[in-house]
Amino acid sequence: MWGRPGSSKPGSLEMTQTATLLESASMHLYQNYRQPGFVLERGEGSWVYDTEGRKYLDLCSGIATCTLGHCHPRLAQAIAEQAARLMHVSNYFFNEPNLKLAQKLTQVTGYDRALFCNSGTEAIEASLKLARRYFSAQGNAERFRVIAFKNSFHGRTMGSLAVTGQEGYREGFGPITGATHVPYGDIDAVTRALGPDVAAIIVESIQGEGGVLPAPEGFLSALRRLCDKNGVLLIADEVQTGIGRTGSWLSFEQFGVRADVTALAKGLGGGFPIGAMLCDEKFANVLPPGSHGTTFGGNALASRAALTVLEVLDEENILPQVVTKGQHLTQKLNELVNRYPSQAEMARGAGLLQALLLREGVDIRRILESAQNSGLLLTIAGGRGLRFSPALTVSLAELDEGVRLLDSIFKANS
Ligand code: PLP
Repeated sequence: MWGRPGSSKPGSLEMTQTATLLESASMHLYQNYRQPGFVLERGEGSWVYDTEGRKYLDLCSGIATCTLGHCHPRLAQAIAEQAARLMHVSNYFFNEPNLKLAQKLTQVTGYDRALFCNSGTEAIEASLKLARRYFSAQGNAERFRVIAFKNSFHGRTMGSLAVTGQEGYREGFGPITGATHVPYGDIDAVTRALGPDVAAIIVESIQGEGGVLPAPEGFLSALRRLCDKNGVLLIADEVQTGIGRTGSWLSFEQFGVRADVTALAKGLGGGFPIGAMLCDEKFANVLPPGSHGTTFGGNALASRAALTVLEVLDEENILPQVVTKGQHLTQKLNELVNRYPSQAEMARGAGLLQALLLREGVDIRRILESAQNSGLLLTIAGGRGLRFSPALTVSLAELDEGVRLLDSIFKANS
């Protein structure tokens, strides 16, 4: 799995620092990821550096997470300052950064209340639990089923996995029930799947892990109408699309749709782990003390990081820039499609969450590895999508450089 230099012996003097680290990884790390054979050591903006001093243009930013780029001075300073002051006290007590974060996050998103956790999957768990308990508190405990979409991704805990619409993620984990999956974009199928036992519909505005596939026009508002008509809650999974990724605080804003519950994580902490579930006052008492929680949720350090991310995005007016940078990226990716039609099929996505969909049969892993070898970091989404999810602070020149590197790879392949 990990690249290893042939002649070096474990622990021997001739081993480089990198080789020693990779050897250690092969011996001690649980091997459930597929990392390439280099070790990243530091980062700055859209660039990261490995232990051999090689430089990479990072256009994945920790899977749509390092919102302000790597080691943004204000974020790094805020985290260091907070670490020296107060990191964690648990939810037995208030902490100041968390209260400020709750205020700022609800202000920019327009929701009334925020419940904090540590990841996207946890934000989804909280949303699903809120939906079920909302109905059971009204004596409707039989209303628990969730309608979700094929090709969706909502996380890997049992609850979030139950709504994830890709078999591969569920394989081997036994029966995971409670959800019905229907084709993404098919409002008739959603209507048919509704019933008196349905508590919620969960949806992404763009299926990120599913290949950066945007919802068809009118789909989200049709879902909203259907939920209203049937008294079902609409849960927006904005883990990948939220916090400015598509040019607005929440991507749903751009469709004029407001979900009852919104799940956030990834970009919220700018690289520091934090998640949040947002909802309105109507749901404020659904999860009373003791019903749900997590030790680290809303800790002072993560909250200070997220607060700083929101402040920087706001003060530096970064969201409108995401739209123009996104348009630029779309244009550049479309040019690649025109130049290499036998390898690239189309560009899709919004803002700074886009994918270049490669043709069936093109070895996407080889392209990804060639990109890494030429100093460009991307990720694969949905099997055929080369995903671009750079820092929202990425420059046009950096986007151009990424596309140029990819162009050379396609050229060499033709
Ligand atoms: N929901 C969506 C849309 C995601 O893209 C992800 C992660 O990729 C998750 C949920 C799960 O988030 P996490 O990996 O932070 O648990």
